[in-house]
Amino acid sequence: MRQGYDYISEIKRMRSEKNAVILAHYYQTGDIQDLADFVGDSLALSQKAASTDADIILFAGVRFMAETAKILAPDKKVLLPDMNAGCSLADSCKAKDFKKFIKENPGRTVVTYVNTTAEIKALSDIICTSSNAVDIVNSLPKDEKIIFAPDRNLGNYVLNKTGRDIKIWNGTCHVHEEFSLEAILKLKDEFPDAKIIVHPECELPVRMVADFIGSTAALLKYTGNDNGKCYIVATEPGIIYQMKKNNPDKTYLPAPPRDSTCGCSECSFMKLITVQKIYYCLKNEKPEIKIRKDILDTARKPIDRMLEISGKFGPQK
Ligand code: SF4
Repeated sequence: MRQGYDYISEIKRMRSEKNAVILAHYYQTGDIQDLADFVGDSLALSQKAASTDADIILFAGVRFMAETAKILAPDKKVLLPDMNAGCSLADSCKAKDFKKFIKENPGRTVVTYVNTTAEIKALSDIICTSSNAVDIVNSLPKDEKIIFAPDRNLGNYVLNKTGRDIKIWNGTCHVHEEFSLEAILKLKDEFPDAKIIVHPECELPVRMVADFIGSTAALLKYTGNDNGKCYIVATEPGIIYQMKKNNPDKTYLPAPPRDSTCGCSECSFMKLITVQKIYYCLKNEKPEIKIRKDILDTARKPIDRMLEISGKFGPQK
């Protein structure tokens, strides 16, 4: 880090010079969220990537998100400041194993969460995010049998909400599995008025004590519209930055992880992105996301199907 160097001003200068747009996920640090042209969850960011007229998309998020942007905007240069910014959930579903799973469960529509590699998307019929997973499944004919991958907790949540015949892939996100029910309930004892708000990637026991369950964007919206004053937030704590920005008079308590010493409710992949890395990435226009043309073309169809269906629902819940 060059002491005293104004990385932010330089990034802003290069951004306008190169006609670039910076898209940041809610799990990024506050300085990156403030620097971004647009901050959102996976669904909003993919919609933004599909509609931007910038020449360069710099993605402050993880690899599968940048890949989704490339699939939706194949003619644009899509940059990711650190290629090691992966995702434990995406890693839990490898193409070879998933092909076998589909073969073992024939005749099912493959609904895949956006947190997957481009190869997995290319094997899918329709993509979903945590914002629209229930609506996407409900949009399918009632008797349609479904495969849901890769998150078993979100899959289980969708199954309970829709009552559909769903075969669920056994994948998880290391962050959302980490929350401790006991520690959350202890916090609730200390703050009895606090509402427990939970992402659907969390395990069932945590979801069962929730006052509200929703995607990152839905949790943010809920804290804005709700008349409560205090929330225990069971998702990656990066979102609390936007919650505080939107409603600074309320209190937000990060749900504690099982191991109170590890800080493992933070996504270590998301936090690999820094302002300094964004600066070098934009300067060198590297690392760039590249996807094989056949995979890119095939993966586009199930994403387009999702965007078309979620467009019909209007603003996300
Ligand atoms: S929070 Fe979980 S699902 Fe999201 S990017 Fe990190 S590891 Fe993947």
